Amino acid sequence: MRTQVVIIGSGPSGLLLGQLLTKAGIDNIILDRVDKEYILGRVRAGVLEQGTVDLVEQAGAAARLREKALIHEGFSIAFDGRDHRIDLANLTDGKHVTIYGQTEMTRDLIQAREATGALTLYDAHDVTPHDFAGDKPHVTYVKDSIAGRIDCEIIAGCDGFHGVSRKNVPVEAIRTFERVYPFGWLGLLADVPPVSHELVYANHERGFALCSMRSTTRSRYYVQVSADEQVEAWSDERFWDELRRRLPLHHAQAVVTGPSFEKSIAPLRSFVAEPLRFGRLFLVGDAAHIVPPTGAKGLNLAASDVHYLFEGLREFFAEHSTAGVDAYSRRALARVWKAVRFSWWMTTMLHRFPDSTDFERRIQEAELDYLTHSRAAAAALAENYVGLPY
Ligand SMILES: Cc1cc2nc3c(=O)[nH]c(=O)nc-3n(C[C@H](O)[C@H](O)[C@H](O)COP(=O)(O)OP(=O)(O)OC[C@H]3O[C@@H](n4cnc5c(N)ncnc54)[C@H](O)[C@@H]3O)c2cc1C
Repeated sequence: MRTQVVIIGSGPSGLLLGQLLTKAGIDNIILDRVDKEYILGRVRAGVLEQGTVDLVEQAGAAARLREKALIHEGFSIAFDGRDHRIDLANLTDGKHVTIYGQTEMTRDLIQAREATGALTLYDAHDVTPHDFAGDKPHVTYVKDSIAGRIDCEIIAGCDGFHGVSRKNVPVEAIRTFERVYPFGWLGLLADVPPVSHELVYANHERGFALCSMRSTTRSRYYVQVSADEQVEAWSDERFWDELRRRLPLHHAQAVVTGPSFEKSIAPLRSFVAEPLRFGRLFLVGDAAHIVPPTGAKGLNLAASDVHYLFEGLREFFAEHSTAGVDAYSRRALARVWKAVRFSWWMTTMLHRFPDSTDFERRIQEAELDYLTHSRAAAAALAENYVGLPY
């Protein structure tokens, strides 16, 4: 087979890139190692920056999002038994975030792709990028026990943190930066109304908690747990009890409980690989960088990478210019590092670290106090939360 762009990975970055390329008349094939049902069942992010929404719109997959998404103009930070609202709209000249589950966005993008007839090969194993240092790369894979090969001009590595694209880059060509946090997030999804109409981020002596949502009838809650915690140790009852203990009384009393239909533990990590380009292979989204979910930047960073790469590829194929693809790594990384800083800062401010000293605890209290009494500090938080410009 032959195509212009092989996209490895059918997560949000691969699907978004594929749809933008198809709409621009650039032929592409997506390969994923798992099946469509598995992809549609994954529960992950839910807070979209306007830039992400605009890209989904540009990709022609925003009809359901426009109808069902919630607009949030603020959120709360809770500590010391009270909560403080961060008025995003007021602090950012009217900007907001959009609440729409990654699962739903993925479904919309898959449907939009299917409507165009563009090819996706699910259940493709041993996917391997080859010869990307030259100008005739190709990708090999095995599907239904039959080996396949796709010749192409560009390979987009959109295959997440554990994917093959980054692993196939020579070690001497790549530099990585990493911080692993000494805790994880235990998340629970249930069809119960959210505790508040906006998100609540709570710093409590028992650990961090987040009250999030996917809709007005579906809630997503998280509690900080130790890094070695097992999800089996957490019955729904234990989770609801722990959540209520970490929230200010008025929120705790408003928690509506119900049976969970998803419960999982996510480790927290900051990771960046540099550069994002190796000849004709480009790393996009989680394949190149991971942020802790505090601040909701993972999915949004995947989207901004797609924006920069798509613009570069459009110039490459339509105008035979390499200016955009040459600039991709630098432009994307400049935005990535700012989001890495923001996510690290939010994580540090809101979590209880097992080894923190009294000094560090006082600094955290001062940070929260400053944030809730200084418009300038709150505005800096709000500017980053709604998303820095592309
Ligand atoms: C449990 C969890 C919770 C999260 N919660 C949040 C949140 O609340 N807020 C937030 O902003 N972000 C969150 N994130 C991060 C966010 O989901 C990611 O940033 C986003 O999914 C990145 O999209 P992506 O397309 O780059 O990678 P992925 O979504 O990881 O997609 C990669 C795709 O590549 C495929 N793939 C992997 N390896 C191969 C291979 N060898 N061959 C072929 N295909 C392969 C995978 O099957 C997958 O479909 C969460 C992530 C996880 C794991």
